[in-house]
Amino acid sequence: MNKPTVLEVRNLTRRFGGLVAVNNISFDVHEHEVVGLIGPNGSGKTTTMNLISGALPPSSGEIWLGDTCISRLPARRIARSGVARTFQLVRMLPSLSILENVKAGAVFGHQQLWGSELDHHARRLLERVGVMHDPDAPTSSLTYIDQKRVELARALASNPRVLLLDEWLAGLNPTELQQGIELIADLRDEGRTILLVEHVMDAIRSLCDRCVVMSSGSKISEGGTEDVLSDAAVIEAYLGK
Ligand code: ADP
Repeated sequence: MNKPTVLEVRNLTRRFGGLVAVNNISFDVHEHEVVGLIGPNGSGKTTTMNLISGALPPSSGEIWLGDTCISRLPARRIARSGVARTFQLVRMLPSLSILENVKAGAVFGHQQLWGSELDHHARRLLERVGVMHDPDAPTSSLTYIDQKRVELARALASNPRVLLLDEWLAGLNPTELQQGIELIADLRDEGRTILLVEHVMDAIRSLCDRCVVMSSGSKISEGGTEDVLSDAAVIEAYLGK
């Protein structure tokens, strides 16, 4: 594969006191690729996402976005450089309308738009992710899946170089799950570059070009999705929990 590398994680370590939550992890995400960051609960996936987005500083190691080292930058500078994310527990800005929530992504993110251009862009994105609600309504009127869709639209609003999805499909019913998988598949087909933490095996199988598997903070496997999911060490790590 000769696609350019967008995100490069090099020897990344994060300790919490005596606990090594992320232990010397390295992996790359290439342009237009969907990479799954998977592993049992407590293996360090969310901590890795927090390190990439700058919510936490690493204890050691480096993270590169293209030719910029982002691992010592504050979160807002990392967002500006082109990393956008959604959270495991959806985070709306409750004092803002649905539309304003989406616009906020473009104001604080990589590609900045203003005025009517921003307004059109945000409305298009809401349609794109399937939110039929009045864009000027408060976010409190949204169902859970629609909040997730709005959060995704907000992450997309800045046209990020890499999109981090932290269990974006968690908590959805089977119909919503299918719609959610299709939505992410559409983003992949548009050529987005995505790193996703996911537990739903159907989603991992249908969305991820490659997977990086973590267990107890360490990377235990990496490669094409089917190969990784049939790797004995991976099966053992999941069954051992
Ligand atoms: P995963 O996302 O794979 O479930 P996490 O990254 O959430 O795993 O957690 C990895 C390990 O780090 C766990 O043992 C967790 O308890 C610990 N951990 C995560 N965040 C913190 C924190 N802020 N302080 C202390 N320990 C933490």
